[in-house]
Amino acid sequence: SNATDVVMQRMVTVPDFPSEGILFRDLTPVFAHGASFRSVVDGLIEPFVGKFDAVAGLEARGFLLAAAAAIDGGVGVLPIRKGGKLPGDIIGETYDLEYGSATLEVNPASLPAGSRVLVLDDVLATGGTIGASVSLIERAGWEVAGIAVVLELEALAGRERLSGRDIHALVTL
Ligand code: IMP
Repeated sequence: SNATDVVMQRMVTVPDFPSEGILFRDLTPVFAHGASFRSVVDGLIEPFVGKFDAVAGLEARGFLLAAAAAIDGGVGVLPIRKGGKLPGDIIGETYDLEYGSATLEVNPASLPAGSRVLVLDDVLATGGTIGASVSLIERAGWEVAGIAVVLELEALAGRERLSGRDIHALVTL
């Protein structure tokens, strides 16, 4: 598709970032190009049109995609935030990273019970981040309408960790 093509054309691969031995995929140039960004956002929501009531973006790059997709889809946007950023009666999920751990949080009062939430992020790697987000959405009383990412890194087996979920990736490497 056009979305897949523009990602392949504009994505930049950076060796040894953020640390030695890591091959970092930088999608910033894809998002910075207007026609490409539009194509990516359209491509992410395309399989789920009519099947979601809100879009959740994972901090921080997921926010860029989710806000645009929410306008495109005519629904609201929900930020799934890193620990300590949201006020009120929030719920959190802590998950393991390569070194240490991270927490994501959401406010269950943000959406009505039973809302169908489409989850967006830039990259699916080990699936830890999206897995924690899926748990949060269900604990909040909502339904996961689907998961869409710009890039899936197949070797890190995130899809296996998220087995049974409807995952749409524009590019798989
Ligand atoms: P996870 O391993 O699937 O939980 O990915 C962890 C986080 O790191 C996600 O928010 C990804 O967006 C981000 N991430 C992992 N690898 C890359 C990369 O190569 N480029 C950009 N972001 C990445």
